[in-house]
Amino acid sequence: MDFDLAPGQRRRVERIRDAAAGLPRPERGQAAGRELWQAAGELGITGLCLPEEYGGGGLGALDTALALEALCDGGADTGFAFAIAAHLLACGTALAEHAHDQVRADLLPGLSSGKTIAANAMTEDEAGSDVSRLATTAEPADDCYVLNGVKSFVSNGPLADVLVTYAVTSPAAGYLGLSAFAVPADSPGLRIGPTLAKIGLEGCAAARVEFADCKVPRRYLMGAEGQGSAIFQRSMSWERACLPAVYLGTMQAQLNRCVTHARERRQFGRRIGDFQAVSHRLATMKRRLESSRLLVYRACWDVDHHSPDAAETAALAKVAVAEAAVANSVDAVRLFGARGYLAGEGIGGQLTDVVPLHLFSGTTDIQQEIVAKGMGL
Ligand SMILES: Cc1cc2nc3c(=O)[nH]c(=O)nc-3n(C[C@H](O)[C@H](O)[C@H](O)COP(=O)(O)OP(=O)(O)OC[C@H]3O[C@@H](n4cnc5c(N)ncnc54)[C@H](O)[C@@H]3O)c2cc1C
Repeated sequence: MDFDLAPGQRRRVERIRDAAAGLPRPERGQAAGRELWQAAGELGITGLCLPEEYGGGGLGALDTALALEALCDGGADTGFAFAIAAHLLACGTALAEHAHDQVRADLLPGLSSGKTIAANAMTEDEAGSDVSRLATTAEPADDCYVLNGVKSFVSNGPLADVLVTYAVTSPAAGYLGLSAFAVPADSPGLRIGPTLAKIGLEGCAAARVEFADCKVPRRYLMGAEGQGSAIFQRSMSWERACLPAVYLGTMQAQLNRCVTHARERRQFGRRIGDFQAVSHRLATMKRRLESSRLLVYRACWDVDHHSPDAAETAALAKVAVAEAAVANSVDAVRLFGARGYLAGEGIGGQLTDVVPLHLFSGTTDIQQEIVAKGMGL
């Protein structure tokens, strides 16, 4: 077991961390626009784990996570990093592994370069945690499938050029009745709703998406009919393992700011970091960060090695990061005192970016279920 980064990994991480510091941030409360996506594309971020033959970085899950962590540690907006992670992990990996050859050749170069953007459309009003309740259908017709249904929370939806979506092709077949599709955003019958007003992660725009007799040529079916659930689960292993790395970077940058503040802010004639209540709070923040980081790296290693434990360790990692990020963000506000509660300081604002870690890619309760089932419960 080796806990050190190889020289090549270290160079990549340092390059991305340094470059992230120079990336523009989206306007306050606004989603990142296409220029920012292309700037990230030029750094290789939008194609990290996409195949090299299509302009991607060809990285595995662990190296992708290290890069996403470096991006946020370097100062990139958490919402924008989340948007890139959704594009890459829920969509890019599924397209790279399961789309037909011609579709991969058509779509992946644009996604790698950041010129085009992908969105994952699974959740529906009545099918959140319980994706077996999907109401969206895909009926085969001549040379296409006709999709009907509404997806309720699609990150990147307003900017998306392609949507990876899931629909019922065989209602009686349960798990095997779901199929996955890559749907170009300009398909007739596809309507993307207005940007949803969220309380955080504004750098990533989200929308509802409606399929109204949306005709999708057969070549856009991913894998075979009935493989949708398996494709979704594999993409979720990538996303649950790697996406929390965005938050490792955010937590590292947050901790650095907190330590600096504890060294500089003086009360009662002393630096507040001299008070054990404060220094121990910082030690606790560091422990939460370091222990969740180990779980993320382990989960990514499991994805890279196609380990049978991948789903369970990804669940453990996601829960650990969610708990650590929320607790650390509350502690950061306490440490900064009233200025931590001011809008625009960036410390208090992180709270609304970290809370949804308990929700997206399967809620914390659902991750706990996966872990419990892994123990035979
Ligand atoms: C920021 C953000 C980005 C998102 N991006 C996307 C996206 O790009 N694409 C997409 O398809 N979806 C996306 N989602 C939606 C996300 O996947 C769902 O919110 C999630 O699956 C939970 O579904 P729900 O919101 O309907 O909650 P519900 O399923 O209604 O759950 C409500 C509560 O009940 C609990 N619960 C439900 N079932 C169980 C159970 N069996 N055991 C224990 N507790 C249970 C949940 O844990 C939760 O606390 C996003 C959500 C957020 C917040």
